[in-house]
Amino acid sequence: MRKIAVLGATGSIGRSTLDLIARHPAQFKLVAASAGSNWQALQHIIETHRPTRVALADPAAAQALKAALGANHACEVHSGAQSLVELAQDSQADTVVAGIVGLAGLASTLAAVAAGKRVLIANKEPLVAAGALFLAAAQRSGAEILPLDSEHNAVLQCWPPGFTPHQQMPSVRGITLTASGGPFLDLPRSALAHVTPAQAVKHPRWSMGAKISVDSATLMNKGLEVIEAQVLFGLALDEIRVLIHPQSTVHALVEYVDGSTLAQLGAADMRIPIAHALGFPERIESGAERLNLAALGQLEFREPDLAQFPCLGLAFAAARAGGAAPLVLNAANEAAVAGFLAGTLAFLDIERVIAHTLERVSLEAVHDLDHVYARDAEARRVAITAF
Ligand code: NAD
Ligand code: MG
Repeated sequence: MRKIAVLGATGSIGRSTLDLIARHPAQFKLVAASAGSNWQALQHIIETHRPTRVALADPAAAQALKAALGANHACEVHSGAQSLVELAQDSQADTVVAGIVGLAGLASTLAAVAAGKRVLIANKEPLVAAGALFLAAAQRSGAEILPLDSEHNAVLQCWPPGFTPHQQMPSVRGITLTASGGPFLDLPRSALAHVTPAQAVKHPRWSMGAKISVDSATLMNKGLEVIEAQVLFGLALDEIRVLIHPQSTVHALVEYVDGSTLAQLGAADMRIPIAHALGFPERIESGAERLNLAALGQLEFREPDLAQFPCLGLAFAAARAGGAAPLVLNAANEAAVAGFLAGTLAFLDIERVIAHTLERVSLEAVHDLDHVYARDAEARRVAITAF
């Protein structure tokens, strides 16, 4: 029986994970769960899955949850950012699912890695901003990092056996990450100026949280994923290719030196990569729809248009620059996406704010958690001056 802690249990990744745990009660048990502030959703999770411990980042929400559960409830309720770190290190769980959105998941996910857990990571922003810290912590603790991001999980499924983070694989020539292209793929650039948050979060293939949906609409999501792939698979930038693939059926491809290319295919349902990583190395039922290639008929692939979607170009440039450039890129993007979702920024302001920030904040590498947070905070401050 695997004991699971889910960070970000109330979100899109969290809900898909809980669906899988519920499908396999003999194999998995939810022992701990966290959320930001949605205590009602967390209460529902407590009643359904009976974890022994939960944590809410928001102390007021934790108070409300405690009151709703009553004084004698068996589930411990903790609050504050540090409680998420403690929950992630909790020795009760052998597997931690990282499903918080943004850099807010950094400390808890890193704590799970440092504690030597099996860590299933969907939360890509910490890997982008502080990839070296994750690799060093995993090396020290022996933690097993398994990617949940569908493309990276697909790469893992096509990777030579014996995957360990950042190990060079001489037999691999390169990988391709596919991108659906998001809701605005075929819109002229002039029309992009007027798109609304509601249009941006309506993804044609995937149902996801608001932030990653906007990232998919700008193609920044694919840019973050290129950097995530560099970290996870130890690849050079020129070994990572991005292709637009509107059907979202082929999630990634791995090309070998002998000319063979392996691809992973499946429905656009996050329960597939989550099931792969939860069961790894066994295969378990996910509940996802089966693939029907005859019904699909055609699979299309094309090069991304960087003039239409400059955020992808900015991410490639940050990946090339290295150092703290991915961290600054991510911070500016998080700030700008929040501004867009709040109605303060227009869609095309996102790329402008990121470019502005990358030009003004030091891109020199940072080497510990405190400096990561300091540089992140500085980048967010600079980003907001461009609003
Ligand atoms: P979401 O917005 O649906 O859920 C986010 C979760 O994080 C919620 O449980 C929320 O309570 C929690 N949270 C938010 N802010 C927090 C904070 N400050 N402190 C603690 N907890 C906080 O997001 P999502 O779509 O599930 O995405 C989660 C992560 O997974 C993101 O990094 C995203 O890029 C990645 N990812 C998501 C998908 C997907 O299909 N949704 C696919 C691939 C990768
Ligand atoms: Mg992805």
